[in-house]
Amino acid sequence: MAAPSGPSLSPSRAADFKTCPLLFRFRTVDKLPETPSADQVRGTLIHAVLERLFDLPAADRTPEAAAALVAPEWEKLVAQEPELASLFAAEPPVAAGPSGSPAARSAGTQTDPATDGGVSDPATDGELSNPAAGGRLSDPAAGGQSGPAAGGQLSDPAAGGQSGPAAGGQLSDPAAGGQSGPAAGGQQSPAAGGGLMRDPAAVAAEADATGQAALVDVPSGAAEAARIAAFLSGARDLLAGYFAVEDPRRLEPAERESLISTMIGDELLLRGYIDRLDVSPAGDLRVVDYKTGGAPRQAFEGRALFQLKFYALVLWRTRGVVPRALRLLYLKDAEALDYSPEAGELERFERTLLALSQAIERAKRDRDFRPKPSRLCGWCSHQSLCPEFGGTPPPYPETAAITDLTSGAEPDRVATLLRDDPLG
Ligand code: SF4
Repeated sequence: MAAPSGPSLSPSRAADFKTCPLLFRFRTVDKLPETPSADQVRGTLIHAVLERLFDLPAADRTPEAAAALVAPEWEKLVAQEPELASLFAAEPPVAAGPSGSPAARSAGTQTDPATDGGVSDPATDGELSNPAAGGRLSDPAAGGQSGPAAGGQLSDPAAGGQSGPAAGGQLSDPAAGGQSGPAAGGQQSPAAGGGLMRDPAAVAAEADATGQAALVDVPSGAAEAARIAAFLSGARDLLAGYFAVEDPRRLEPAERESLISTMIGDELLLRGYIDRLDVSPAGDLRVVDYKTGGAPRQAFEGRALFQLKFYALVLWRTRGVVPRALRLLYLKDAEALDYSPEAGELERFERTLLALSQAIERAKRDRDFRPKPSRLCGWCSHQSLCPEFGGTPPPYPETAAITDLTSGAEPDRVATLLRDDPLG
């Protein structure tokens, strides 16, 4: 596809604006650096391992084989993003800039937004807070299959095996309903800018895996090695959650880590990466998204559904088929949730994205990106610059920098994952 001359949207940035216009500005206009948390780094690693796993012959896709991929994939990731290694350093560098302040990092990784202020979550209200309601979002593992048996439903990834959520249609469109919103795209390197700080989540992972609250009494090199070992151990634990809900020996994905895109309204480019696409012999599509984070997922399910509808719309517009199922695999909880979109709601969602894009263009024109506090503030790296928390945003960037918003450059997959929601 030719480089776009107009606005573009990725699901993450669109969800940012919908969640909080000021957060969108900090990330997409100001391009402020954010330090990835240990959960986000682990999630990026897990995505890489699961992608590689399907390179193996089907019979070899065992839990042991997946575990054996963890260390080499970590080495590849560090080679690609060397700053990630300092996440586990004994004396980590202090990040530059407000977003890397200890306070911001602490808030971004430890605060539980669900208990922090009680502001309603714009992304989740009325959507998936009760997945059972409405019947469109079903738990394929419900009924007790949490083991490989659940994978039995996937033996034919596309054929009738999909636990196709009963049609129903009661869940509201996460995007519909009131946002006046808009959007633009442009991912940026998460690691760009600030150095990496020691993440509290890494400390917690270390304590989980080693039984030591802190490794202050051992030589720094040994402490770093122990932290990395604990981190990798945590990744292997998440993979165990994957094998509890799917048997990859019975799957043959059609696509993995694919960049998909389409134009809508002759003006807006939509693009994003899908973790996995399964296609049945009959041509049914199932989009699969791995969620690896440790944060309470209720706070993020609205964003997750928004993301999956985004992919469903792009696939529908490019392939002429409405995906039969959108599947979220929560590896930490060893749980799978399916959602069945319908053409009518994807049409509404398309209109919502166009409105979102127009609202972003207005906000850019007026330089007016307002804070919208919610439970997700607990994970925001930019509280120190947010008026809701007593901060002052930096001066608005000049036009030259803002034009990057419409860049046609292909988004960086690793960077996208590292900046993704805490649920990864
Ligand atoms: S702290 Fe909350 S209101 Fe402020 S920019 Fe971040 S998400 Fe928006």
